[in-house]
Amino acid sequence: MEKRKEFLPYSTQWISDEDIEAVIETLKSPFLTTGPKVKEFEEVVAQYVGAKYAVSFANGTAALHGACYAAGVSEGDEVITTPITFAASANCARYMGAKVVFADIDEHTYNIDPQEIARHITPQTKAIIPVDFTGQPVDIDAIMDIAHANNLVVIEDGAHSLGADYKDRKVGATADMTMFSFHPVKPVTTGEGGIIVTNNKEFYEKLLLFRGHGITHTPYAEEQGGWYYEMVDLGFNYRMTDIQAALGVSQMKKLDSFINKRQELAALYTEKLTMIDGVTAPQQLANTNSGWHLYSVQLNPETLGKSRKQIFEELRAANIGVHVHYIPVYWHPYYQELGYARGLCPKAEKWYDNALSLPLHPQMSEEDVDMVLSYFS
Ligand SMILES: *Cc1c(COP(=O)(O)O)cnc(C)c1O
Repeated sequence: MEKRKEFLPYSTQWISDEDIEAVIETLKSPFLTTGPKVKEFEEVVAQYVGAKYAVSFANGTAALHGACYAAGVSEGDEVITTPITFAASANCARYMGAKVVFADIDEHTYNIDPQEIARHITPQTKAIIPVDFTGQPVDIDAIMDIAHANNLVVIEDGAHSLGADYKDRKVGATADMTMFSFHPVKPVTTGEGGIIVTNNKEFYEKLLLFRGHGITHTPYAEEQGGWYYEMVDLGFNYRMTDIQAALGVSQMKKLDSFINKRQELAALYTEKLTMIDGVTAPQQLANTNSGWHLYSVQLNPETLGKSRKQIFEELRAANIGVHVHYIPVYWHPYYQELGYARGLCPKAEKWYDNALSLPLHPQMSEEDVDMVLSYFS
């Protein structure tokens, strides 16, 4: 196939002049960090998703770490998540010394299967971290029911799904805590950044404490004087800067238009793929609207007469930035050394063997979609 002049990435940021202006304004202001923009950004995101509170973090991984702390995850606990995700969804439980339990996926949505979650609950289970893989929301009502029946905390990993809907609610309105990431490939960006949204005041206060060194103003500190503060737990410096938050506030104005464009392009891929043998489009549940962070197809190498590796390499050689998301988390050497055997989640592993992410981001055109698909037809 003909080589594109410019590389077409699987995803990328879209920064406008307005975004740049917003950042410059903050650079000229008295606050570079922990100022008005962080507060504004948190309010904008909380309001957008329909949650009471939001706490921003330096990145999404730090936010997941904070959520595990707020949930009280600690050594001896078990945390259930999916193997088809970025490693951070599991690593955050390890930071707290907990054991990660991987539950298999649903073969249609590629998301964690609620029945598999239920099957893996033990007296040690403390939390569930479902992931809205590719931007398609997990069945959060079913997962919350399981959690309530077993006294578990649900931390939804919404790194892919800011702006997605589940039964006419935004992702972030339902779980105990929901994490969003603002890495440049994600729905909107702050360069690096993350946030936890929650309706729970106790979680909110713990998140604030954890983000800021475990330092707080106690009644004892009040008595001592205006300069006094106390460090009551071992926290971190996980703060987002006002520079990042200024970019975030500006980017949030464009979130809906970005998602609409992603949805349009995804619909185009799906329609055109019905005419291509050997490539299966991702299935969508009727009661959800995906944020379409990724467009992940299943290849049939026999029909196509080529291996996934060969297809990947030929598309990359043509400057088309296909990718594979994700290698099952427990296949990584770190998890293998902890004793997780291959074969643990057969549906996830089978899915991985044939998975390929096609480029999808709001700056793409219909011609780009056609060019990607021309390889297969
Ligand atoms: C990107 C991502 C994260 C981590 O977010 P960062 O902001 O990069 O730390 C966590 N989970 C998933 C599923 C992600 O895609």
